[in-house]
Amino acid sequence: MTEPNDPLSLQKRYGAGNYDPLPVTLVRGEGAYVWDDRGRRYLDMMSAYSALSHGHRHPRLLAALNDQLGRITLTSRAFDNDRLGPFLARACTLTGMDKALPMNTGVEAVETALKAARKWAYRHKGIPPDRAEIIACQGNFHGRTIAVLGLSSEESYRRGFGPFPAGMETIPYGDAGALEQAITPATAAFLVEPIQGEGGIIVPPEGYLRACADICRRHRVLLLADEIQTGLGRTGRLLAVEHEEVHPDGLMLGKALGGGLLPVSLFLARRELMDVFAPGDHGSTFGGNPLAAAVGLAALDVLVEEDLSTRAARLGAEFLARLRTLAPPLVHEIRGRGLFVGIELAPGPVSAREVCLALLKEGILAKDTHENVIRLAPPLIVAEDDLLRAADTVSRVLVRVATVVHSSHARTG
Ligand SMILES: *Cc1c(COP(=O)(O)O)cnc(C)c1O
Repeated sequence: MTEPNDPLSLQKRYGAGNYDPLPVTLVRGEGAYVWDDRGRRYLDMMSAYSALSHGHRHPRLLAALNDQLGRITLTSRAFDNDRLGPFLARACTLTGMDKALPMNTGVEAVETALKAARKWAYRHKGIPPDRAEIIACQGNFHGRTIAVLGLSSEESYRRGFGPFPAGMETIPYGDAGALEQAITPATAAFLVEPIQGEGGIIVPPEGYLRACADICRRHRVLLLADEIQTGLGRTGRLLAVEHEEVHPDGLMLGKALGGGLLPVSLFLARRELMDVFAPGDHGSTFGGNPLAAAVGLAALDVLVEEDLSTRAARLGAEFLARLRTLAPPLVHEIRGRGLFVGIELAPGPVSAREVCLALLKEGILAKDTHENVIRLAPPLIVAEDDLLRAADTVSRVLVRVATVVHSSHARTG
């Protein structure tokens, strides 16, 4: 007997079981669309958790990648390359930050922020050695390393992976008073997502970030904004903190920064915070490589030149309005900002995953988060009619799922 050797069987046989994907094998992508191995087309309403904000295979990003492939791809930071400087300059200018440190994945940018914050606290705030504390929010998602999981309140992410580093604490999200109460003389930083993504597209109350920024300033606590998912136009502004005119001390970008082609992340900061790093303190073999820098720069240029933030604001408002007028059943709440939308289902017999499976059959890729929330976050280049049609499909699917549940209850009840 030979083992089956189709791609899916090989993945099941040889791959770790740390994911439970929806049953579709994607083989091609273009713009807001992807195709599966049977030639079926889907509208991508997930965008690889916002990493595909530019859509699949954006021509200008492919051109930047190809151009750089023909020159040099990797130097390591043991030597300089001619692509990194322009990329960092563009990122700093656009975000209003002083300096930037390149990494690859989002969680590495978060780790970098935590390291910078601790060192800053010892050097500039006089916190005794090894006593610095970081505050984060319940329901956060900042990535999967052990240190970052030390800040997570999600039992399933943490279970079996302890012990975690000391000096980490969580407070309720959306409650500025809780931040004020939690701050002690040893607090170095407050790490926050402007909208919680993996937590279920949780939009905090109006004025929350502004209030947190004021509290941080009064207590000399660093405000670290994790915009890995919310940043780069997703919520209708380049950064989600701009909705409340907040200027964080440190900022993390990732996901869409790689244009859907490569992992590219940045930790950006005010000068005093970034200047805690000296040669040998911190680094990454691939961080700042010329290929990533060329793609990252092009990704930023495309965002600005195609005005994708404004597009996200306009289309997002239309999409939300359309979903709300259709008022699909089973829904507890429809919320979001820009093209970052969550449909929270009412407690009951239908899970968000079941809805996502039904959407898949209708040619829409969406992903459940937190059991009862359907995340809808298409590429920011999505066509207006495709988006509004998707709103109709989502409503129709929810109606159908509700009917099935209702009639099966009627039969058994
Ligand atoms: C995805 C995400 C991360 C982690 O990024 P990776 O590239 O998966 O390491 C961190 N913070 C937020 C808010 C995210 O959405």
